[in-house]
Amino acid sequence: MLEKFRDRELSLAVAEKIKRCMPERKVKFCHVCGTHEWTITHYGLRSLLPKNLEVIAGPGCPVCIVPSSEIDAAIELALEGVVITTFGDVINVPGSELSLRQARSMGGDVREVYSVRDAVEMAKKEPDKEFVFFAIGFETTAPSTAIEVLRSEAKNLRFLISHRLIPPAMELLLGLGELEIDGFIAPGHVSSIIGLKPYKIFPEAYRMPTVIAGFEPLDVLFSIYMLLRQVRNGEAKLENEYTRSVTWDGNVKAQKLISRVFDVVSGRWRGLGVIPKSTLSLKKEYEHLDARKFYKIKIGKSRDIYPGCCCHLIMVGKLKPTDCPLFMEDCTPQTPKGPCMVSIEGTCGIWARHGVRLYR
Ligand code: SF4
Repeated sequence: MLEKFRDRELSLAVAEKIKRCMPERKVKFCHVCGTHEWTITHYGLRSLLPKNLEVIAGPGCPVCIVPSSEIDAAIELALEGVVITTFGDVINVPGSELSLRQARSMGGDVREVYSVRDAVEMAKKEPDKEFVFFAIGFETTAPSTAIEVLRSEAKNLRFLISHRLIPPAMELLLGLGELEIDGFIAPGHVSSIIGLKPYKIFPEAYRMPTVIAGFEPLDVLFSIYMLLRQVRNGEAKLENEYTRSVTWDGNVKAQKLISRVFDVVSGRWRGLGVIPKSTLSLKKEYEHLDARKFYKIKIGKSRDIYPGCCCHLIMVGKLKPTDCPLFMEDCTPQTPKGPCMVSIEGTCGIWARHGVRLYR
């Protein structure tokens, strides 16, 4: 893929700078974004890096981290006759036993939408049916859900909120001391909303170099170079590579929408347990729109991880897809066993679709 990308010459020049800046010791950076993993894998960027520099993937796939219990709840509603609307990837993700796609084949009305607005329009057209929008995603998609909660145009549409926040997940990674991360590459799209401010805890409290990065190969390589410069100089700073989209304050209007509609609460992430203050929940004044409350959903026991699947270890960068014995054996994009293989932002799926079979 190297010959195809934009700014190839510049990128190769940055790769050279990275090599020159590299210390003798091993260095490990972590990104928390499925799109960064896609860029790195698609353009073969790891092959441009020194052998002692590793870039691992954290829990940056918004679909992979939805706990089975929430998928089970959506399935239960679908099988009871509620129309479930959600983004495409989600319908393939396994719950404890079934996926939403399987629920559809059993008669459930499960519909893929491109945006929450589509769900609103569908619900308005079919007022005799009850609709639920299964709202997944990080800070990037939460504002559009918030807008529709405030508008509340379709009286037969309720929301199963499954939005999660990125900075608390990054903090979780730092609690796993054995990962020995030397720096974070933070996601550009989430940061366009939240700005730089929420990341200042990483250099200030954890002395962890952190760089916000865009999604072109040159962005990713340059952010690696910026991190490496900090490592070489013994610094821990918050820097912004994605200045064309991210500001210190972020999108204040979107942040206001989020805080008007949601409370920040502790919540489960698939395979990672409960992360404090990492999940959004509808405020009390909107609880009439909350599918959990309206349908009195009881979250019972659920199975987050298929036997033998290592998604929970891959999502925190402890393992690589090729370390999983099921990778491209029992588990393929056609026969996924875990969410990391299902989603287009899941690390296993990205590696499988790009033919990565070995990792140096
Ligand atoms: S290859 Fe499949 S089974 Fe293994 S960790 Fe990835 S999703 Fe799970």
